[in-house]
Amino acid sequence: MNAFLDEIQLAYVATGKPHKRLILRGVIVIDGTGGPPFGPADIVIEMDTITRIVQYGTSPWQNQSPVRLVPGPEDAVLDLDGCYILPGLVDAHAHIGGPAQVPSAEYVHKLWLGHGVTTVRELGSIYNGLDFTLEQARLSNRYEIAAPDIVPYVYFGWGADHWISDPDEARAWVRTVAAHGAKGIKLFGLAPNVMKATLEEAQAHNLQTACHHAQQYVSGANALDTARWGLKSVEHWYGIPEAMFTDRRVQDYPSDYNYVNEADRFAAAGRLWEAAAPPGSARWNDTIDEFVSLGTALVPTFNVYIGARDAARVRTSEWHPRYTARELKAFFSPNSGEHGSFFENWGTEEEVSWRRSYSLWMSFIRDFYDRGGLLGAGSDSGFIYKVYGFGLIEELELLREAGVSALEVIGIATLGGAKIAGIDTVTGSIEVGKRADLLIVQENPLKNLKVLYGHGHSAEEADGGRSAVGGVTLTMKAGAVFNARDMLSDVRDIVAEQSANGAIFETVHDH
Ligand SMILES: [Zn+2]
Repeated sequence: MNAFLDEIQLAYVATGKPHKRLILRGVIVIDGTGGPPFGPADIVIEMDTITRIVQYGTSPWQNQSPVRLVPGPEDAVLDLDGCYILPGLVDAHAHIGGPAQVPSAEYVHKLWLGHGVTTVRELGSIYNGLDFTLEQARLSNRYEIAAPDIVPYVYFGWGADHWISDPDEARAWVRTVAAHGAKGIKLFGLAPNVMKATLEEAQAHNLQTACHHAQQYVSGANALDTARWGLKSVEHWYGIPEAMFTDRRVQDYPSDYNYVNEADRFAAAGRLWEAAAPPGSARWNDTIDEFVSLGTALVPTFNVYIGARDAARVRTSEWHPRYTARELKAFFSPNSGEHGSFFENWGTEEEVSWRRSYSLWMSFIRDFYDRGGLLGAGSDSGFIYKVYGFGLIEELELLREAGVSALEVIGIATLGGAKIAGIDTVTGSIEVGKRADLLIVQENPLKNLKVLYGHGHSAEEADGGRSAVGGVTLTMKAGAVFNARDMLSDVRDIVAEQSANGAIFETVHDH
């Protein structure tokens, strides 16, 4: 069956605003709960809420109806026969990016909407500060900008005029940001007593917590220590191998290592998993079981380190020439002082050690998930040649590579992320009463996750030509309908304007 999307109707309803009553007709539903696809179904959305899901069939005991829903004269309607509908994606580790990285927040928001991303956990307001993130969140809530729903986190220490190293001061800071409107705190590691105080106070004020366990602090508290103290999510993977060291307590650093040098940091990081207890060992299993029983979530962000195992792939990604802005290109270019820009002199030895790391890391994530662990799909785009939206779809593919089925990957990238952000009663799945955060795609993403990439899935033809299918066609955020392709064409315009006097990314790199 070929999916049918009525472009004229789409143009009519894609106003960026919610509709009084909108009916999506004939869709195949992947609801994000892990249940199998079903359809055709009609979904009724009133303003920002899913109010009815009618599946067709003859089994009323299975919530099926033999008669199709008849739209009223006032209803907006979209005929979508055979199209797939999914909950909007939740980017569980996202940064809007500051002026040194991106031309504007609009560029980032539209890349997200163009990929069906309807919620982002803005992990720290690092480059623009909390007030900026809160303002973007407000504008998005009021439908004044085209953007996903933004869950604002703030980095530890924001707004303080000195480094906070006293537990009571840390508690006072937590209370301040809670009152200011932050929904979570992003940590990079702290002295154990300050970390404990911060996590405790955050819990008392219902703030989420996420930590990138920086090497400078991991000897005092690894990921399992902070999980025991109440940390909600472990970002990336740092601090996990250290929880499984059996013949040392601190990483074996080269004698000339300097943490501030990003090339040093990444080269040494590539050897961490191999230094830890192996898969299937008692220590490996106990560590996983304890994370699961503590309810600690993991957000691996596999995609953002992919350049470490294959630098050429990320430097020459297909989407760079049309979608990657000049600021990002400059930010990505090798400069060991810039966060994550470590590629000068990155060679075979470094890539091979990272490939071995990935295999161990993916086994860990797969075992954690199989035993009931909570996972999120996070992109961390804006670093290491990773572009907003595209990076998240790559993350889905890498979760699949870790051994999780495509159906479960979609659950991780939707309901999983919503749970981690503490908003799973509001969004994350297609269920009556939930917020209408959805994406529609004409191909089946369970067969091929690549159809979610903004530039589509490109197939090479016998005559050497290429044809693209897919790409998200419609993104709905809190009932507001966006034509995903229009979002991406706006992004292409921004990049084309920047490239008027010379390409930002050449399609082929050469001597
Ligand atoms: Zn990050």
